[in-house]
Amino acid sequence: MKRKSILSVMMAMVLVVAMVLGACGGSDEPASTTTTAAPAETTTAAPDGETTAAPDGETFKVGIAMPTKSSERWIDDGNNMVKVLQDLGYETDLQYAEDVIENQVSQIENMITTGVDCLVIASIDGEALGQVLNKAGEEGIPVIAYDRLIRGSEFVDYYATFDNFKVGVQQATTIIEALKLDAGEKGPFNIELFAGSPDDNNAYFFFDGAMSVLQPYIDDGVLVVQSAQTDFEQVATLRWDGATAQARMDNILTAHYSGDVQVDAVLSPYDGISIGIISALKGAGYFGDGERPIVSGQDAEVGSMKSIIAGDQYSTIFKDTRELAKKAATMVDAVLKGSEPEINDTETYDNGVKVVPSYLLEPVPVTIDNYVAAVIDTGYYTEADLQ
Ligand code: BGC
Repeated sequence: MKRKSILSVMMAMVLVVAMVLGACGGSDEPASTTTTAAPAETTTAAPDGETTAAPDGETFKVGIAMPTKSSERWIDDGNNMVKVLQDLGYETDLQYAEDVIENQVSQIENMITTGVDCLVIASIDGEALGQVLNKAGEEGIPVIAYDRLIRGSEFVDYYATFDNFKVGVQQATTIIEALKLDAGEKGPFNIELFAGSPDDNNAYFFFDGAMSVLQPYIDDGVLVVQSAQTDFEQVATLRWDGATAQARMDNILTAHYSGDVQVDAVLSPYDGISIGIISALKGAGYFGDGERPIVSGQDAEVGSMKSIIAGDQYSTIFKDTRELAKKAATMVDAVLKGSEPEINDTETYDNGVKVVPSYLLEPVPVTIDNYVAAVIDTGYYTEADLQ
């Protein structure tokens, strides 16, 4: 549909509401939003038969920019967003950029050119979208940052995500509990640390959250990092790439572990990285009949759920992408209707230009002990998915 600024949309909607109210004359008859609806064939109808139409009679279109299909979670996120938005009566344009920053920028540019009314973006590089968002700003297109904060731009209206610091706390806590440090075990235990991509704001939150739990044990000598690699820059994994993590783990094993010096735990920020780390450990004789280091993760991806069930990966963090999609979609719905979306955090996510009003959802730590309740009883997976 043709571009329009939010202001003109709001003004026109006020007009429509006034007309509808005038026609209804204060009766109990439900007001219809189809007054301005486009012909049925171009309209994505909501289940109740209403449409979410722009005042010019066309359906609002939402551009959804996702980072990559190489991780299941983003495929689920994209599908869930499309479903929820279409159920609300919106048209959607979903694009994946296969972790190539330039692709994502041109996809967003294209969405702006073809006239989307709102953008939902899960960025690849949170710092790389300033210029293209200037264009969105000029066109009055609202922008919702999806799961990952977009940094360095004033044109980020809202942010839907999980409590990212808490994710890190939970990852580390599963390790602490598995090693029984919370019950007074003194080890010392050897741990290695991995963090996510340095261009993803979340990676810092996860690492800081995890270190808030691990650092006191490291300071006390209960946990020992044999590689001595403890700074974010040393442990970060560009683009969250499992192969990069596997290569780093291989190097660490060769350089710092042998004989009696064994790895007891690995802080991993994401399931794809956990799989790489576990491969490196298996290559060095761990698992099977060997030592079984405690490895954390995130996203409850199928491969890692199977690994947890098999007793290899120890934990993951379940972030229900259905809930995130719902939350982001209600933000879209609110901004396009000119109302305020629900937010629950106005302090944490400073993107360097402004504090972006956010809604933080609750992450859930998962191990073999609670996976049925967490991901099967909630309908996220079936038993068959995990066999
Ligand atoms: C997301 C995580 C995900 C990671 C890698 C982060 O921004 O919050 O859920 O594991 O990206 O895709």
